[in-house]
Amino acid sequence: MYHRLDFSHEAGLTIDELIRRAKSNLPEDTDFELIRRAYEFAELHHRPQKRSSGEPYIIHPLNVAATLIKLKMDLDSICGGLLHDVVEDCDVSEADIIKEFGPGIGTIVIGCTKISKIKFKTKEESQAENFRKMVVAMAKDIRVIIVKLADRMHNMLTLQYVSKEKQVKKAQETLDIYVPLASRLGMNSVKSELEDLCLRFLHADMYYRLAEKVSMKKTERESYIRDTVSLIKEKLSEYTVNADVYGRPKHFYSIYKKMQNRDVDFDQIQDLLAFRIIVGNITECYKCLGIIHSSFTPVPGRFKDYIAIPKVNNYQSLHTTVIGPQAERIEIQIRTHEMHEVAEKGVAAHWKYKEGSGGAKGLNKLKWVEELMEYDRDIQTSSEFMDIVKNDLDIGGIFVFTPTGDVKELRFGATPLDFAYAVHTDVGNKTVGAKVNGKMVPLKFRLKSGDTVEILTSKSQTPNKDWLKLVKTSRAKTKIKQYLLKIERDRNKEVGQELLESALKKLGTNLKQLDKKNELARALDAFHFKNNEELFHALGSGRVYLKQLFEHIQSIDYEEEETQQKKKKHDTLFKNLSDKAKQTSNKDNAVIVDGLDDIMVRMGKCCNPIPGDPILGFITRGRGITVHTKTCQRISDFEDSRKVDVEWNSAYTFRHPVSIRVITHDRPGILSRISNNINSLGVNIKSAVARSLPDLKGSFHFEIEVKDYAEFLKVLSIIEAMEEVISVTRA
Ligand code: MN
Repeated sequence: MYHRLDFSHEAGLTIDELIRRAKSNLPEDTDFELIRRAYEFAELHHRPQKRSSGEPYIIHPLNVAATLIKLKMDLDSICGGLLHDVVEDCDVSEADIIKEFGPGIGTIVIGCTKISKIKFKTKEESQAENFRKMVVAMAKDIRVIIVKLADRMHNMLTLQYVSKEKQVKKAQETLDIYVPLASRLGMNSVKSELEDLCLRFLHADMYYRLAEKVSMKKTERESYIRDTVSLIKEKLSEYTVNADVYGRPKHFYSIYKKMQNRDVDFDQIQDLLAFRIIVGNITECYKCLGIIHSSFTPVPGRFKDYIAIPKVNNYQSLHTTVIGPQAERIEIQIRTHEMHEVAEKGVAAHWKYKEGSGGAKGLNKLKWVEELMEYDRDIQTSSEFMDIVKNDLDIGGIFVFTPTGDVKELRFGATPLDFAYAVHTDVGNKTVGAKVNGKMVPLKFRLKSGDTVEILTSKSQTPNKDWLKLVKTSRAKTKIKQYLLKIERDRNKEVGQELLESALKKLGTNLKQLDKKNELARALDAFHFKNNEELFHALGSGRVYLKQLFEHIQSIDYEEEETQQKKKKHDTLFKNLSDKAKQTSNKDNAVIVDGLDDIMVRMGKCCNPIPGDPILGFITRGRGITVHTKTCQRISDFEDSRKVDVEWNSAYTFRHPVSIRVITHDRPGILSRISNNINSLGVNIKSAVARSLPDLKGSFHFEIEVKDYAEFLKVLSIIEAMEEVISVTRA
């Protein structure tokens, strides 16, 4: 029988009991004495302190550690739980903790301390700023937030001892920040418990009314659960399915939310109970579903397959609602034991099998947290960040509208380009711009729920490689890749055809003549090509050589010597053509690396090569190729075996945008004089903004595009040289 994890406050918990529990969870070779040492350290430093309840302070870290054991967390987390308040509340430094207990536990304690120092405020702006810090602490090691959740859990469980004002503040903060976090981490047991506690302190009336109602019907409810469970079991055993089946009341907060959403009273809420069927494997899940649906009438629209499509927090289960024997609705969830473990403990469940070995490496960091950090880097305002955090924590998806009012669901972070591909591939491929709520936006714009999106298209537009960086949805990514692949095929075909035609011309013949003599068809047969197109493609991509082809065409007689010469010519021709193709496909790369397509190339920071310099490439492990000038002093540091030939890509025309800020004495015509000077260098100005400063000064902000650093320096120096200019800096 499965029960919800019981997180209740344990007033009599001792360290011996804690270690006994840890021993039943962690591998035998775990250093359990470390738990005792952490306890003794914490107990010593907290000794003078008391909880608001009057209990010795140490009871709090003990309970936090107990919760972490229930969540099956690793040794570092348990010790971190015992020590989480010593830096904040006692005279212990971060360095002391690292010295005593090592960097793993150190990171957790330091992270918890940092989060504790965040003063959550009601104003959205400052709250966002604090949340940002929280995410930073979390990004270092995800165990920080799990310990923090256990800490918050115990504080909420003992909240009755603090002032009413503090109760409301803490509960609201928990509902706003910790509940979404627990949900996003998939820790449903923690989330439900916290939600119920928040309800208790924020809407006490409702909480106690619900508690009363639920307990009033207790006997009735228990017999109903018993009957339904045995009915389900009976049906399953008819088909020889072995399953754990149990029913339980839903947690209060979910009933409360249902009442609010549907605006109904407690008595009108029918489905207060949820039933669970837990089986051995996925096949049995679907088998159970089939049995349930054929034994009871399913309620249309209530079936959800979270096994095939897991929720963003990795939750998996089959959900359905059926009509029971008394015409009542029965909500049923079907899952495997493993899925159940994940549903209850979320990310914490992953530590179960890895404990002792210092925790699951790599799991300490979560992808979505890192993504959040990435957003953090390129967004402007705190409220925007808060929007992202909240959105990402809540659902991971957004709903936007077409101009005609249709709804599209997109992944969180989706751009107008994702939207365009969601409408139709042809719309996506032809997108040149977008309007969101009537305003023009860049294609990288991040859509929000509720936005109305209008896509502007052009017949001449085609997708390019950069688009892959703009889109978030896998549909858009796939469509763009498909298009790029097709383009490459087309290009190969063109190259192949050109190659063959010019070779035939030099041999005094052409495709038409060969066709007449039926020789081309025979050659195609020899290679199993269906048509000329396939032949061109094979020639263009280098799968078949001209020489091989000509061996199958009788009228082309070739003498060895002549052929060698011709082969050389053909090879040169082929090389030229494919180089041309390569350059056009690599317009985005400043450098062409011999024989390697699509490799990451970086410029050495030591010598900063600019187009035209003689250069050499060096293979750097895991970081592609670094390019240095041939005169760079560092070249002698590299082994010869890592050297590769590189050359400047003449087709590379990319220009780097850069912003500069110019402060001048305010004189008439100054803006046009600066602009003229920049233009005289052949540098393009993308935008210019002018502002008047006090003391008759002017401030100008230019966005320009330069080829390279040298050009940028030229721009700086030509402006600096102007008499009226006070300063010029990179903005
Ligand atoms: Mn604490």
